[in-house]
Amino acid sequence: MRDIILLKQGEIVLKGLNRKNFEMKLLGNIRRRLKNFGDFNIYAVQSTVYVEPQDDDCDMDGAFEAAKKIFGIVAVSRAAACEKDKDAIFNTAKMYLADAMMGARSFKVESKRADKSFPMTSIQLSQYIGGLLSEEFPNTAVDVHDPELTVHIEIRDYAAFVHCAPEPGVGGMPVGANGRVVSLLSGGIDSPVSTYMAAKRGVSVIPVHFFSFPYTSEQAKQKVIELAEILTAYCGRMMLEIVPFTHIQEEIRDKCPEELFTIIMRRFMMRIAEKIADANGCKAIVTGESLGQVASQTMEAMGVTEECVNLPVIRPVVCLDKTEIVEIARKIETFDTSILPYEDCCTVFTPRHPRTKPRLEEVIEAERALDLQGLVDEAYNNIERIRIRQ
Ligand code: ATP
Ligand code: MG
Repeated sequence: MRDIILLKQGEIVLKGLNRKNFEMKLLGNIRRRLKNFGDFNIYAVQSTVYVEPQDDDCDMDGAFEAAKKIFGIVAVSRAAACEKDKDAIFNTAKMYLADAMMGARSFKVESKRADKSFPMTSIQLSQYIGGLLSEEFPNTAVDVHDPELTVHIEIRDYAAFVHCAPEPGVGGMPVGANGRVVSLLSGGIDSPVSTYMAAKRGVSVIPVHFFSFPYTSEQAKQKVIELAEILTAYCGRMMLEIVPFTHIQEEIRDKCPEELFTIIMRRFMMRIAEKIADANGCKAIVTGESLGQVASQTMEAMGVTEECVNLPVIRPVVCLDKTEIVEIARKIETFDTSILPYEDCCTVFTPRHPRTKPRLEEVIEAERALDLQGLVDEAYNNIERIRIRQ
């Protein structure tokens, strides 16, 4: 008999009519994510997803850690399997939960029976195991109202399972349940976090990177690929779109006022992102902008930036402090890669005095010097697409 992993579904449980749909997405995501760790049978009963290893080669620790990063799951526990016999269940609980029982001041037992032919009711079983456990661990008192530790017993068709205190899952909604977005992914700290936050709300993401070779190096591109790879633990597999941006930047530098360089460049990013979005059925553009962080992230600049597109622009970190963004970046393990010192295309040709409060009319006037459509099409037609897997 093999241990299993139990996953608790999060808020999709509350979604009424859409619930089945969301659950299918979640199960699909779990199956894909755990495939790397062995052959598992994965299915849902009520709000719990059961992950059962099919052979002894399964990497249970790996699967357990991976499951904690799947959006839509709020808690993850590992359950020990044993024979469907009350004394076998007690012995398993005694051994498997010894540390937890010794560390807790109070506990209770909660039993569930999927197999109704089991000769005790749930209440009888809980009382029986609870009594034996309190004899075995005399420092831990039974408290059925507010216990520190809850011991769970489940009688399923082919075995009984014992588990306690789950570890928290990442929460959110299953990737894909709420549609698709494009997410502008630079090599910095903020945009991996904003990409993660958007995915957490159940969207699947197409990351887009603007690349200005040779002003930015091959290493800068590798860094973005690495960030995308780290994000797949949360976002699932993705197709990274690398947009050649050099010609656009040179054109702006040569033909537009220096203090408007950044804002005009950002409007190009938006136009190209929207074109990618339209081609892929994406309904919004996500960026890592944060209010007041730099000159191009004033409300005026953000307003002018998004004026040239029709899709909503979602900025998950817009109201977070840098320290809060860094905290998330560390948690999701993108931080160390983000701080590698390679140039981003935004730092090439940075104006000495960028306009913090650009006026739309002057920007549109300055853009008249450029072949907007031609430049957008040229960049779009030369996109490099890279499949990103875990
Ligand atoms: P980050 O830490 O994400 O690089 P930032 O604070 O450096 O953000 P900016 O460089 O002004 O801010 O960019 C703001 C946002 O624009 C980024 O968060 C990202 O979403 C997008 N962006 C900037 N540069 C690029 C790029 N080269 N490719 C794709 N998106 C970019
Ligand atoms: Mg940046």
